[in-house]
Amino acid sequence: MSSGLYEIENLQLSIGDLHAIRGVDLSLQRGRCSALVGESGSGKSLTGLSLLGLQPAAATMSAGRMCFDGIDVAGIDEQRWRGLRGNRLAMIFQNPMTALNPTMRIGAQIAETLRLHRGMTATAARAKALALLERMSVPRPDAALKRYPFEMSGGMLQRIMIAQAVACEPDLMIADEPTTALDVTVQAEVLALLAELQRESGMALLLITHDLGVVARLADDVSVMYAGEIVESGGVNDVFYRAAHPYTRALQRSMPSLLASDVQLQSIAGVPPDLRRKLSHCSFMERCGQAMTVCNQSPPLLDAADHQRSRCWLSHTDCPQPLREAWHRG
Ligand code: SF4
Repeated sequence: MSSGLYEIENLQLSIGDLHAIRGVDLSLQRGRCSALVGESGSGKSLTGLSLLGLQPAAATMSAGRMCFDGIDVAGIDEQRWRGLRGNRLAMIFQNPMTALNPTMRIGAQIAETLRLHRGMTATAARAKALALLERMSVPRPDAALKRYPFEMSGGMLQRIMIAQAVACEPDLMIADEPTTALDVTVQAEVLALLAELQRESGMALLLITHDLGVVARLADDVSVMYAGEIVESGGVNDVFYRAAHPYTRALQRSMPSLLASDVQLQSIAGVPPDLRRKLSHCSFMERCGQAMTVCNQSPPLLDAADHQRSRCWLSHTDCPQPLREAWHRG
């Protein structure tokens, strides 16, 4: 695996007897947007929280390696995490109200981050907060600094949360469903803003979403999560145009924004496996139209093409041609 800004190998997380994350590998690079995509319950948000040391208190987590810019973060204490979060590692969420303090004025919240992590004076922090709101195209930024979160619209709050997240020029921003709660026009504006900020700053961006349309607009690489594991990964064009895993293809067929108007939308029949039970077979087997006897053994991530990997026996480059053709016809 190439050396990235943040390297994660074999991340495992359980909450009680629920094995929610099952051996996730990620490599996040500066200047690139990596997307983690999947249905709700696939483990993608828990993975994002774990990368910031924010996994639930009841969770048991382990990893073969968790290395952020040379720091072995798997072993650091909460005090060191606090020094990284909001500073070198930032996160934005679907609902800005969960990230912003409803009892504090917006200017004071952004300034507090700058004073805490950058040691700025109150005057310098206020000036920087104003410049950040201007950069985020918040109208009348001077007045916005004096407002409380409940006085702003959802789209403006999302811009303010992004301003606070980028205030300390993080190396990595994790955006968990950043536009799901917004209407379509505002969604497009916020995505364009995120893309611009990433280009300008060269930070790494991890985009967590269920929406393949959002992935197509923003991401360079994509990892598809299903039942707590990555079932396909690769460059965004490869995964979109030559999806190797039956689950990725099913996900594409279930997304109205990705289909031509004459193609019928198809939901994915069945339900994900119960992650309280140990799985020895392919996790998608019960829902997969191409399942074979060999699928009773859980497949590893196999090379499906250059830089594209898939956790499916059919996608292996050495898979016999008749099987491959039968799958592609399917
Ligand atoms: Fe389907 Fe088998 Fe591939 Fe799993 S390994 S996705 S069951 S064909």
